[in-house]
Amino acid sequence: MAKIRVGVNGFGTIGKRVATAVAAQDDMELVGVTKTRPSFEAKSAIEKGYGLYVPADNVQAFKDAGIEVKGTIDDLLKSVDIIVDCTPGNVGEEYRAKYQAAGVKAIFQGGEDHALTGISFNSTANYSESWGAQLSRVVSCNTTGLLRTLNPLDKKYKIKNAFVTIVRRAADPGDAKNGPINGLEPSVKLPTHHGPDVQSIMPWLNINTMAVKASTTLMHVHTVVVQLDQEITTQDVLDVFKSAPRVRLVKSKDGIKSTANIMELARELGRDRSDMYEIVVWEDGVKVVGNTLYYYQAVHQESDVIPENIDCIRSMCKMEQDAAASQAKTNKAMGISQ
Ligand code: NAD
Repeated sequence: MAKIRVGVNGFGTIGKRVATAVAAQDDMELVGVTKTRPSFEAKSAIEKGYGLYVPADNVQAFKDAGIEVKGTIDDLLKSVDIIVDCTPGNVGEEYRAKYQAAGVKAIFQGGEDHALTGISFNSTANYSESWGAQLSRVVSCNTTGLLRTLNPLDKKYKIKNAFVTIVRRAADPGDAKNGPINGLEPSVKLPTHHGPDVQSIMPWLNINTMAVKASTTLMHVHTVVVQLDQEITTQDVLDVFKSAPRVRLVKSKDGIKSTANIMELARELGRDRSDMYEIVVWEDGVKVVGNTLYYYQAVHQESDVIPENIDCIRSMCKMEQDAAASQAKTNKAMGISQ
């Protein structure tokens, strides 16, 4: 089967990781990435051997900076089967029209609304809903994290309701502009948008969320309280998490007490860019009392959605019908063990 030709629009935090992941798949070809300005990241794309495509108005600026471009964004659209849009949130509408005019499939990210595509994607929860679709949206990092654990729990032991507090990282590590750099900032518009975003994939789930921004760049942490339909044991929950795709159990007893230790673990694993693609659950922090389950999980916001984008390409381009088979293929290429 011919390789699916993939373009990545926007080469920032998410786009550069999607590009690396696409290039690692043996059934996909990375045709190129886009960059708006001749920054160090544009040079890094060239060094990695990626074709660089830029807005027509900016071609000269790249030439002046000595950076060789392959063409314009419109040229890229003529050479791909699917584009993964990794531009900042809320520019999607403008690009959707371009992608549709060029007749290419497009994946958007969690910064866009569900209404932009009408389909949202999570590999664990609804792989088949994007089968053959022209447009889909990989939900945000936090929503991906919640779906990875709540969906398998709901499948096995029906969830009556879930309540989550999200302790959010203030900025990504490469971002020196956003904050707070000191203090904790509650999201006062309640409940936060994260619950409805989970419902874009599990509309039946009764879930409410609150969020607090914290002065850290490493990861988000979720405190999750779930009411189940029946009384189960802590071991029952651990068994669900052990077999859930892209969920990693760690123990505080082993020295993994904070998100800093998780990032150190990712470095020890030799992961590309020190990424932790799995949702990390503290095994010794899982507790069931009656039919109420409590647990903590950590989300590496820069990377948990990357394998999801790869699976979404396979579903939309009808490359692999079985979710588990796509996940296994993606995981193998990206060095994810579960
Ligand atoms: P980013 O700012 O790091 O990268 C965006 C890239 O798009 C930059 O390279 C920028 O130069 C480029 N860009 C800006 N305007 C453009 C335009 N008009 N046309 C083409 N390229 C343009 O952003 P990001 O963090 O990678 O976020 C991208 C998307 O992924 C957003 O929807 C965001 O909500 C979502 N997302 C982000 C994270 C995260 O934690 N960073 C996690 C999950 C999902």
